[in-house]
Amino acid sequence: MDKVVSLCKRRGFVFQSSEIYGGLSSTWDYGPLGVALKNNIAAFWWREMTQLHENIVGLDAAILMHPRVWEASGHVAGFVDPLVDCKQCKARFKAQDLVKTWRNKKKLEALGGGDIPEGGEGHLEELKKIRWPEALCPTCGTTGSLTEPRLFNLMLKTFLGPVEEAAATVYMRPETAQGIYVNYLNVVNTSRVKVPFGIAQIGKAFRNEITPGNFIFRTREFEQMEMQFFVKPGEDTKWLEYWRDARFNYYLSLGIKRDKLRLHRHTQEELAHYAADAYDIEYEFPFGWQELEGIHNRTDFDLKRHTEYSGKDLNFFDEETKERFTPYIVETSAGLNRTLLVTLLDAYDEDVQEGEPRTVLRLSPAIAPIKVGIFSLVKKDNLPETADRIAEDLRKICPVFTDHQGSIGRRYRRMDEIGTPWGITVDYQTLQDQTVTLRDRDSLEQIRVSVDLLGDEIRRRLAR
Ligand code: ATP
Repeated sequence: MDKVVSLCKRRGFVFQSSEIYGGLSSTWDYGPLGVALKNNIAAFWWREMTQLHENIVGLDAAILMHPRVWEASGHVAGFVDPLVDCKQCKARFKAQDLVKTWRNKKKLEALGGGDIPEGGEGHLEELKKIRWPEALCPTCGTTGSLTEPRLFNLMLKTFLGPVEEAAATVYMRPETAQGIYVNYLNVVNTSRVKVPFGIAQIGKAFRNEITPGNFIFRTREFEQMEMQFFVKPGEDTKWLEYWRDARFNYYLSLGIKRDKLRLHRHTQEELAHYAADAYDIEYEFPFGWQELEGIHNRTDFDLKRHTEYSGKDLNFFDEETKERFTPYIVETSAGLNRTLLVTLLDAYDEDVQEGEPRTVLRLSPAIAPIKVGIFSLVKKDNLPETADRIAEDLRKICPVFTDHQGSIGRRYRRMDEIGTPWGITVDYQTLQDQTVTLRDRDSLEQIRVSVDLLGDEIRRRLAR
């Protein structure tokens, strides 16, 4: 993890936000290579959803929405975490996290909370069974310094208009999904979609997370890639299984290692209030197995609730069967920043080439920020100009980077470190027979390719 974080900073993938002012905790900015990688991942997902599935259309809804949306969704009432503070050292914990730790150490029974379910949202009434004042703060070790759990809403608030009053309060959306549900009728009425169909969206979401951290893994501002799939009641189980498998395979197509991925089916206690069944796709991070994407059977909860709160009929009328029903929703919800972290962690490798250690990011060419590094063997005899001309041509196909400075080995290694899949070197032979060497980052194979055919060769390799 430390090596990836340091590479991110050194090579311009991710910087700390507002760094010259000392930074803002758990907030990150994406530098030149980071934004390229992030955009490529978003484009890869968008293509997978909207281009490869005829029945999935796109949407880009506003971050700010009518406050009633969050009442209907359950976020105002339910998007809360019971928190416990240490009066001594001021550390703050999710009550449920302490429950988990104590269960492992078998302390929970001694504190009267032995029958509290594992995992789950952590309901206040149950958590209050624990005799908190008798417990020990895990950070400073003081006994009797922990407060009773209190509820804390995870939505960020702001005010619309010039007056900071309750009537003008709006929330920064904590998930992109609701923008899809409230536009469901607009999409049905304007784009000839028929159940089963999906709506895909990529956008920012905000949560006042209590325990952000692990670099970009958990932040208060993040991006989600969500696809909500509307299905006929009774077909929801089939579609949940379909999307569970499709989404798992998607990560393999993104180049993520099979043995670092696993599925976790939610237990009854873990299920959110709206879900009938759910799977997490988990990745083995350096800090343990953690969720990367959630696939949920949300039933007809969302559309029923929005019907109730808005007074608008959100049924679907099937022209063929003349049936009217409220669709069930199968949701696939992935984190863009978290996916980016996974691609970096998974791609990071170190080996030794020609006696020299190298760091290499084995990123899939589809998402690599730069696809081709173009070098002249020496900085004279018209070699740099020839390389620049080749670069001008290839630039129309994909992002390229030219470098004429330093030893050729060093230049290769600089490109390997940022995941550039191919290197092209212009040498003296190029001037004679119009061929260049094309080097592969992973196999290290070098072949001679005619300059005329370079574009086709790169296109062919990118399409693989
Ligand atoms: P977690 O249990 O990790 O908090 P969650 O179950 O609340 O996640 P969902 O609401 O299902 O997450 O969100 C879907 C996806 O959005 C997650 O799988 C994750 O990739 C991403 N995500 C959620 N919260 C954050 C966050 N605070 N920072 C970065 N990504 C996030």
